[in-house]
Amino acid sequence: MTKVTEFIRQAEGKTLFSIEIIPPLKGQNINELLNSIEPLMEFKPPFVDVTYHREELIDRVGQDGLIERIPVRKRPGTVGICARLMERFHVDAVPHIICGGFTKDETEDVLIDLHYLGIDNVLVLRGDAEKSAGVFKAKQGGHSYASELVKQVHDMNQGKLLNGETEMWPTNFCIGVAGYPEKHFDATSFDTDYAHLRKKVELGADYIVTQMFFDNQKYFQFVERCRAEGITVPIIPGLKPLATKKQLSVLAQIFHLEFPDELVSEVEKCATDKDVRKVGIEWGIHQCKELIAYGVPVLHFYTMGKSDNVAQIAREVF
Ligand code: FAD
Repeated sequence: MTKVTEFIRQAEGKTLFSIEIIPPLKGQNINELLNSIEPLMEFKPPFVDVTYHREELIDRVGQDGLIERIPVRKRPGTVGICARLMERFHVDAVPHIICGGFTKDETEDVLIDLHYLGIDNVLVLRGDAEKSAGVFKAKQGGHSYASELVKQVHDMNQGKLLNGETEMWPTNFCIGVAGYPEKHFDATSFDTDYAHLRKKVELGADYIVTQMFFDNQKYFQFVERCRAEGITVPIIPGLKPLATKKQLSVLAQIFHLEFPDELVSEVEKCATDKDVRKVGIEWGIHQCKELIAYGVPVLHFYTMGKSDNVAQIAREVF
């Protein structure tokens, strides 16, 4: 399979289109998800990201009538979805792999599965905290930061397995990592956040995908600062079209973002969420045209299960 960085190189400066999808909740039909993204194949994404989700602790009444806390993974299936994507759409799948909830050995096994499937791209992340915990805690025998997981994958590419074993068939993963134009919420300052990002690249990351942003200036400043820090890898902007009025507060709270005043005032004039969706599409078109003019390698859309607004934006800009 082709590496994300190779797709970018082959495009010779032309901006590519890509998407991220989220596995369905356990028990739901995978075909609904695949059908929902089918219209986006018109824009020829060379790769599609699939998120990974850690287990959550939920309370359940046990046989003895007492409440017990059990771990449940609500959105399993990342690796299987990657295989289906490649088979049905002939795109390269980019599974996310996370530190949270995994030991290093479990991660090694997942990486071997991916290698056997012919998957050569991974987006490496720490993962979020368990909802009940509030702050991120590594599983015993697991990694605390994405940089440690980057090193594990990079070591594997050099033929080094855990416990000093060696591979006869070194993997060849292209490694993506996350970057935050508006700073990661745990970071004590922009300075430390950039230092931690630089470390991920020094340890082997080949490209960066940003958290969503609605103000292109934040992305431009982020890229300039990364370059000043000596980070030279491609920086792919992550984008999400605003779709409801409620998202102004929900996205700001979850992803620690600021919305530009102009966008907020346009949304506040809307009577219905149908009107907000139109504003979100217009804003997305404006954002994308400016980003293409800036020369971004890829426009990467967080679809969150909906494709009509992404398709309308892509139709205008590609
Ligand atoms: P890290 O790079 O480890 O950074 C986390 C925090 O720790 C930052 O504040 C950083 O500055 C700090 N830090 C890093 N190293 C050190 C150190 N050595 N000492 C002290 N502090 C340090 N979550 C999922 O669960 N599944 C997904 O599929 C998923 N996909 C995502 C895709 C993208 C493009 C993005 C942007 C995020 C995604 N997330 C996903 C969310 C992500 O897991 C969270 O944002 C998480 O809180 C941080 O992940 P990270 O990889 O950036 O962590």
